[in-house]
Amino acid sequence: IYGEKRLNSRGVNLNIRSHHDPLLQSMQKFMERTYDARPLLAFDVATDNDLVHDVSCPHDRSQTLGRVLWTSQEQAERAVDAAWKAFPRWESTPVNERADILRRFADLLEEHMAELMTLCCREGGKLLTDGVDEIREAVDFCRYYATKAEELFGGPMPLPGPTGESNQMVMGGKGVFAAISPWNFPVAIFCGQMVATAVAGNTVLAKPAEQTSIIAHRVVELLHQAGMPRDVVQLLPGDGPTVGSVLTGDARITGVVFTGGTDTAQLINRSLAARDNAPLPTLVAETGGMNAMIVDSTALPEQLVNDVIHSAFQSAGQRCSALRVLYLQDDVADRVIEILKGAMDELRVGDPRDLGTDVGPVIDDDAREALQAHIDKLKGEGRLIAQTTLEDSRTAEGTFIAPTAFQIDGIDALEREQFGPILHIVRYRSQEIDQVIDSINARGYGLTFGVHSRNESFAEDIARRIRVGNVYVNRDIIGAVVGVQPFGGQGFSGTGPKAGGPHYLLRFATEKSVTINT
Ligand code: GLU
Repeated sequence: IYGEKRLNSRGVNLNIRSHHDPLLQSMQKFMERTYDARPLLAFDVATDNDLVHDVSCPHDRSQTLGRVLWTSQEQAERAVDAAWKAFPRWESTPVNERADILRRFADLLEEHMAELMTLCCREGGKLLTDGVDEIREAVDFCRYYATKAEELFGGPMPLPGPTGESNQMVMGGKGVFAAISPWNFPVAIFCGQMVATAVAGNTVLAKPAEQTSIIAHRVVELLHQAGMPRDVVQLLPGDGPTVGSVLTGDARITGVVFTGGTDTAQLINRSLAARDNAPLPTLVAETGGMNAMIVDSTALPEQLVNDVIHSAFQSAGQRCSALRVLYLQDDVADRVIEILKGAMDELRVGDPRDLGTDVGPVIDDDAREALQAHIDKLKGEGRLIAQTTLEDSRTAEGTFIAPTAFQIDGIDALEREQFGPILHIVRYRSQEIDQVIDSINARGYGLTFGVHSRNESFAEDIARRIRVGNVYVNRDIIGAVVGVQPFGGQGFSGTGPKAGGPHYLLRFATEKSVTINT
């Protein structure tokens, strides 16, 4: 079993000097390096200057990380042809060979941890701790799905029964999958989608988020180095209107695995459904959250605040699992808010490469503007509770947002997910608990959820009634671990099955039942 047998990667403990010193030292040589990223397709591509885009760093927009060549529409279409051609050969490749490629890839990811972490900081604005988590999760996905694939696709499953015939079930791939991935986990989710679809026997067209194309390019180079054939997993950097449209509009695309905003998932769903003469598609979408935590008067305030800070502000709140709405029982609310304010005052916002930074930048100008508009609106309504001070010397050159907490009346006051370091607090009276649960369920998102209480039956009752994918009791609500905390939601938050869970690969597979009259 994952977890118990310690198949999960150990990562690096950044609190221990002897662990982090060598890592930080190896990162130095990648701090100034510039990169050229391009499509990695089954065929070679020529450079077209109109499709070259500069890439700068979120913490300092004057720093250039490199350039990326986007995929043209014609190349994307040719890539679909190549993927279809490769599918039968790849599907009939023995599963242990497919799984071994994932294991070699996992080893390469660990070997190149320093470079990938540096890229996570410089292109994704991620903290060092986030970088460690990224690589660890990516490695876990590879090893977990490799093991699961061997279990599920290892050979025909005999189905003995009363028919007097030989019955068995044979598993296969489905065809060509598009993997459309987000910038917030540019290594982990990006790798997870590619390796899961590929190891199940499909060929894959990976479209990374525009914001993290350089990381994606380096990762796919390593995947190919691990032995993944170039026509089985292809990389198509580019934007939604060009590359995304081909991948969701082409009738030969069997399915899409997507992580990102709920609106985009709905767009993809419509685009897949609008195709003429296309087989019914598979859509696996992991989308947004309006994640809440309920706190009753028995909770331990210091531990609670620690978990709230972590859940709401780690990764600058740019996780779909992050805490957005904190429900505080009225009689403890003042005390909790006082401790929270103190903790928010201590947060250091700034350069993600600095070990002392708690909160890094948000991903780009568009994100900053949208978050700032939300902050200005709620400030205008007089709802501010606390805000961390931004020091100009650390943040002036980048896309930073100050961690902020507001008081609101309920989850319904939020029109949309605010994907950044903004926490909303609601006070409730104990007799209102049923309404609180009903309103969270009725809002329709269902990703993560937390309870803080020392009253076991209260916590159990709420955990049972809340309609979400991941419930966490008396801890933070982010950082699901592959194999032991399968991740994914329901409703507006996603289709399932859960990433890093035992059923994920089945969604990318066909099941054929073969009966032989013996
Ligand atoms: N799996 C991540 C977590 O548990 C979140 C993934 C996401 O933000 O898409 O924090």
